[in-house]
Amino acid sequence: QQKRAQRGAVCVFNKNLFEQVRLEEARLAGLTKAIEHNELTVAYQPIVAAETHQIISVEALLRWEFDGEIISPVVFIPLAEKCGLINTLGLWVLERACTEMQQLDPTPAPALSVNVSVLQLLEEDFIANIDRVLHTTGFAPERLHLEITESALAQNRLVLDEKVGALKARQIQISIDDFGTGFSSLSQLQLLSFDRIKIDKSFVMNFTSSNQAIVRATLMIAKEFGCQTVAEGVETRWQAQQLQSMGVSHLQGYYFARPMPLNPLADWLTQQEN
Ligand code: C2E
Ligand code: MG
Ligand code: MG
Ligand code: MG
Repeated sequence: QQKRAQRGAVCVFNKNLFEQVRLEEARLAGLTKAIEHNELTVAYQPIVAAETHQIISVEALLRWEFDGEIISPVVFIPLAEKCGLINTLGLWVLERACTEMQQLDPTPAPALSVNVSVLQLLEEDFIANIDRVLHTTGFAPERLHLEITESALAQNRLVLDEKVGALKARQIQISIDDFGTGFSSLSQLQLLSFDRIKIDKSFVMNFTSSNQAIVRATLMIAKEFGCQTVAEGVETRWQAQQLQSMGVSHLQGYYFARPMPLNPLADWLTQQEN
């Protein structure tokens, strides 16, 4: 009896696994096509100054609609990384976002923050590609911020240091994304090289006293290393007030604005100016 049940369980597991692989293959084929046919879009989410709520920058976030379904970047970015598509994808976002941001004309012009995968950073042509996009779009390097996840920074330190140095020489700013979630050792992080620390939204959305203590500790570290701080996932006025009074310099979250396509962003920016 028990054995049969076990055998059954194994069968169900295999079927799920089989279906998972099929789904992944379908998505991979879809993603390749989406890149070729320009079916991806970029959504932009404002990042504001904690004290004045004035816009400082926007973060570019990839969006993909496949088979009538919006697939989260949390799903397709790892897929692209696994299948060697991330360089093409990363370059596509950078180029699209720089081009679209040039179509906006607000004063002051916000900076643009783009997420980069560590696999892109490790790519030999990474810096040359950035230079090319900045050149062809005319986007000013000092307006470009790149976000690198904390977990990525544990890898291949030597190559990363070299790339980070090259970016800094171009006055491109660098943020550590998802800070506090990556198990990296603080001594390895070389915090001096970074301009900004992004406090992961998990600490903000679950704003318990323990997570508040972690935010305070992060602020102390950031201060020591001369980094600005951004808190993600701010959904309520209370969270915004708490984070501001704790000394976080920048805020990002649904309370201020959701990620949105270029045209709504343009309207949002106009509203803020008035
Ligand atoms: P991330 O870089 O940490 O981006 C922040 C995520 O938090 C975004 O999710 C954003 O929509 C979400 N968010 C912002 N404010 C709030 C809030 O108040 N409440 C809640 N619940 N969520 C909020 P999204 O767009 O789904 O992106 C997820 C992750 O996918 C990003 O996390 C980033 O790691 C990755 N990603 C997105 N676009 C790209 C890209 O172009 N390249 C790479 N390499 N990764 C990307
Ligand atoms: Mg990010
Ligand atoms: Mg983040
Ligand atoms: Mg995050």
